[in-house]
Amino acid sequence: MTLESLKPYEHYFVPEIPRTPTNRYASIILLRETKSYAIFTTEGGEQQDVEEVPAGLTHTEPVTRLVMFKRKQVAPERRTGKALLRQYGVFPFAVKDRQVVYGEEAQEAKNRIEDCYLTGDLCTYCPDCLIYGYAAVEGEGARKARLMTDTCFTVRPYEVIQRQIKFNVIDEAAHTSGTITEYDYTAPGVFLPAVETTVDLTADEFVYVLSNILRTTRYGKEGSRQGFVRNHVLAIAFSDVELFANLEFTQAYYDAFVDAGVDLARQSLTLADFLNHADAVIRRLTTDLPGRLTLVAGEELEKILADVRALNRDEERLARFLRDLNSRSALFTSKMKER
Ligand SMILES: [Zn+2]
Repeated sequence: MTLESLKPYEHYFVPEIPRTPTNRYASIILLRETKSYAIFTTEGGEQQDVEEVPAGLTHTEPVTRLVMFKRKQVAPERRTGKALLRQYGVFPFAVKDRQVVYGEEAQEAKNRIEDCYLTGDLCTYCPDCLIYGYAAVEGEGARKARLMTDTCFTVRPYEVIQRQIKFNVIDEAAHTSGTITEYDYTAPGVFLPAVETTVDLTADEFVYVLSNILRTTRYGKEGSRQGFVRNHVLAIAFSDVELFANLEFTQAYYDAFVDAGVDLARQSLTLADFLNHADAVIRRLTTDLPGRLTLVAGEELEKILADVRALNRDEERLARFLRDLNSRSALFTSKMKER
């Protein structure tokens, strides 16, 4: 276990990557906030993705909300982690005599893993493959993700957070100002409450997931028009059941704001507004939980986040951490293949 601040919660993690589920849940409760214009569409879509849903849990009038699909949340975070593994010399690696080797030694190995790509060529050995899962790979079968989330929704209605922006596309070669293109954007300062639930992770695997969330800042339509999104972690929860859906999280926030007299169609919201209601909203959603719950927020949470940031700032320590993490995943896969 790498982080001192996670020691008090050690028993909520698995000591080794497990073969069978034990449903040890560690949930990361967060807010995703757009810090620039962003576009959330499915591939090829002209309009952003929206859904009509009941506004709140108590106030159930229908409202149209912008949605961010699961893949749009998790894929950028996977890419962040994978790029880090590459930068810190995890690839290439090889399993030799039940040991994982790196660098020159790996270069000489016949069965070395050169890289791991989303989604075309997943290696089935690295931490990314073992945590986030992979669909069937030839001769390998599939591996279920040990991280779950679902579509998340804005709190405010779509009409007030959406912007239609026109661009005059200049053709540089022809020196003509060509077609006027219109894009459907999400405005900056829009909040989407979300939970990422990890299942049966080791403490270090959990740190890897948390790091990816803290490091990832680009979400939305792939390519140059991706928007800057800041993730704010509100709490970490350890439990033996899943806590709540992202939609319920948004709905509970909606109720809290409406009950506090906020006009969501007119007033924009700040991070402070969300933080003011966070405790009450999370408490409301977890009061009747049919399972055990340990909620980590405030100072205890800050300690963990500070610890994760410190690890990520220390080049040598991070390199060692990533290799150790990878060695344990790679050995797990190689043992599974021997069976
Ligand atoms: Zn992999």
